Amino acid sequence: MAGNQQPEVNIGLVGHVDHGKTTLVQALSGSWTDQHSEEMKRGISIRLGYADATFRHCEGLDEPECYTIAEKCPDGSESEPLRTVSFVDAPGHETLMATMLSGASLMDGAVLVISANEPVPQPQTEEHLMALDIIGIDNIVIAQNKVDLVSGDQARQNYEEIQEFVEGTVAEDAPVVPVSAGQEVNLDLLMQAIEEEIPTPERDPDTDPRMHVARSFDINKPGTTADDLAGGVLGGSLVQGELEVGDEIEIRPGREVERGGQTEYVPIETTIRSLQAGGEDVDAATPGGLLGVGTGLDPSLTKGDALAGRLAGPAGSLPPTWDSFTMDVDLLDRVVGTDGGEVEEISTGEPLMMTVGTATTVGAVTSAREGECEVNLKRPVAAEPGAKIAINRRIGARWRLIGLGTLKE
Ligand code: GDP
Ligand code: MG
Repeated sequence: MAGNQQPEVNIGLVGHVDHGKTTLVQALSGSWTDQHSEEMKRGISIRLGYADATFRHCEGLDEPECYTIAEKCPDGSESEPLRTVSFVDAPGHETLMATMLSGASLMDGAVLVISANEPVPQPQTEEHLMALDIIGIDNIVIAQNKVDLVSGDQARQNYEEIQEFVEGTVAEDAPVVPVSAGQEVNLDLLMQAIEEEIPTPERDPDTDPRMHVARSFDINKPGTTADDLAGGVLGGSLVQGELEVGDEIEIRPGREVERGGQTEYVPIETTIRSLQAGGEDVDAATPGGLLGVGTGLDPSLTKGDALAGRLAGPAGSLPPTWDSFTMDVDLLDRVVGTDGGEVEEISTGEPLMMTVGTATTVGAVTSAREGECEVNLKRPVAAEPGAKIAINRRIGARWRLIGLGTLKE
């Protein structure tokens, strides 16, 4: 079916809780990402829910009416697929911010959903825009949602508030599209804005592939005999390059082994046996959407997300594994969250929780200086120098986002 082409661009859905992100994704893709992300939740590392939507075009109709997700046009003819986009539906939690900040490469653009029936900005509207600003995602469309709940005057007033709010930010020139996700009003106009503002990035197919592993599974039913066992499966996001069935890959830091009372990490090598993208089996995969990789690994190695947070790519091409690193630090003015106070300097000896790509690790600060600090990690991570790191500090009973780090050489 034409509706199942591989997604080629990732678009984050951001905005305050209850403003209609999930409803909008559902209206555009027909799937309900909340079930997905619920299943994917584990502790603080909230996994993002992906939902694919194929934007289609009806010949002979003007803009925006020509944009649709339906396979049939009003006149009964077949619509033409334009491209498949993958929406990354961000639950409205503050912990999502860490994933956004550390996983900049996971989003090529964003739709900022703002409810028309509340004053602008609400706390998470502000924080998510701040995150887009910090990571420099400037392909943004603003969906002014729930216009069915307000009068024309209220909608105009709210529009003015949105314009004032985004002035001087990355979203300054973003189009503001009035929609009702719930009533499916103006979705064609929103699709047109997305087509214009969030192009598919040019990708170099010859760069070494890099996959951020977000999940790993054992897909075998209990009691499967050794002969019938399917190899371990990795789920995640390819951020550059191309992967093909038959490729040899390496996974870093790899698996945990105990040696003389010490925990070590050993890189794993395996062969790609199958690839799944956009819900279909494919021979080759390019960046965009969620990728499933069937491997030759013993499924006990991949069971229960055991390899989540790892990096995969061709053997020998992967960046180093760090047991400790130095990072440049940019602290936020205020702690992320509704009751966030001012952020104090990082001090030597304090514990931090850091998210790098899909990996989350705790570390102790061994040396804190102006604008940078050195940390000793409990669990190592594989990452390129220059990688972005979301930095969380323990405040009260919780880890709270306080800044953005950049991994130094
Ligand atoms: P999220 O937290 O941003 O993902 O918000 P949801 O998509 O879960 O929506 C929150 C609530 O707002 C739900 O009860 C939706 O049915 C409702 N909602 C979403 N979009 C609209 C809309 O356009 N109009 C109206 N009236 N309600 C909406
Ligand atoms: Mg939601």
